[in-house]
Amino acid sequence: MSSNHPKKKVALFGSTGSIGTQALEVIKSNPDIFEVEILTAHTNEELLIKQALEFKPNAVVIVDENKYETLKSALSSTDIKVFCGEAALEEVADFDTYDIMIAAIVGFAGLKPTLKGVEKGKIIALANKETLVVAGDIVMQKAIEHKSPIIPVDSEHSAIFQCLIGEGRNPIERIILTASGGPFLGKKPNFLVNVKRDHALQHPNWSMGAKISIDSATLMNKGLEMIEAKWLFNLNYNQIEVVIHSQSVIHSMVQFEDGSIKAQMGYPDMKLPIQYALGFPQRLKNDFPRFNFKKYPSLTFEEPDLRTFRNLGLAIEAMQKGGNAPCVLNAANEIAVWAFLKNRIGFLDITAVVEKTLENISFISKPSLSEYYESDGEARNFAASLIKL
Ligand code: NDP
Repeated sequence: MSSNHPKKKVALFGSTGSIGTQALEVIKSNPDIFEVEILTAHTNEELLIKQALEFKPNAVVIVDENKYETLKSALSSTDIKVFCGEAALEEVADFDTYDIMIAAIVGFAGLKPTLKGVEKGKIIALANKETLVVAGDIVMQKAIEHKSPIIPVDSEHSAIFQCLIGEGRNPIERIILTASGGPFLGKKPNFLVNVKRDHALQHPNWSMGAKISIDSATLMNKGLEMIEAKWLFNLNYNQIEVVIHSQSVIHSMVQFEDGSIKAQMGYPDMKLPIQYALGFPQRLKNDFPRFNFKKYPSLTFEEPDLRTFRNLGLAIEAMQKGGNAPCVLNAANEIAVWAFLKNRIGFLDITAVVEKTLENISFISKPSLSEYYESDGEARNFAASLIKL
């Protein structure tokens, strides 16, 4: 892409997070190609102010209304529009002025603004996997109706997306999602029962936000990714396999009907899939470290331990059941992970909360969008009552 092209205007939802800050690094390294149109945060007004002063977007949103005055006064000498509150996320997602939305809010909270971007027909660089876990059928249907391309940012899905380039209509036989196994690979319940928050946050290969780090430690993340992949690539659940690959250099693989397997590889660094999604279909030149095979003399692959990491099994069951089950799974998991991060419950209690919530919330086989929202609310309340929040 040359500098003769107009710059791509980026709306970055969740700019203060792990994906958000890395996306800004990518944008900063490509000033002729991208400019920032919108930045949003939940409560971190300090970082949002810094980002806004540096990248000079058209608009910023802080969801926490208590932070509005501080943000507004810090930006008073600029012409940046300042919004606050949850509804403002959808309001700015409805702007005509941006080209690409990076959906990098964590959790269910990302669903509404992302859907708005889809309805506007924008290019969506999707990190927020929960959007597809909760309401994948509706989101993908709307993406077709509104011609909104969804380009995955999740490294596994970016890998699959990249493996499919040039394959035309060649059907996928199966995909193989790789999983690092997280910090507790090989551990058993008698160890996990005593695991504390700070240990669970220490991922061996990736540096990520708190929620996804815990999801990686429980393997729920891989379950959420299976559901995400099902919707993104229009697959049946039996076409999706998970293999533990602790080095995290093969980001995922696709097997075609002739048995041939394509893989995408590289160091575990989220800047690469972020940059790929932003630049697509171009591959933008960068100076990220190049992979050195000699440093990885052996790549290993093994079965996930579903007996110990029961969250993965629960996610697979929810995917197979369909309907509102993945939405309920996600809501219960968000509540349980939050409680674990606050030291309110133990590591293994996360699974217990998710399992009990799945058993107790009424099943809806073909939910409407409002039924998804209701299921999310019911599941959250039920999960919170288990934890006595
Ligand atoms: P972080 O927790 O680091 O950041 C989350 C971002 O969302 C922050 O900007 C935060 O604002 C904002 N946010 C949090 N809650 C709300 C809310 N209720 N309403 C509006 N905004 C909110 O998360 P990550 O960057 O790690 O993850 C973001 C998404 O990307 C997740 O869905 C995750 O699964 C996915 N992902 C992340 C990867 C990673 O490497 N981090 C890899 C692949 C996927 P504030 O800072 O003010 O709290």
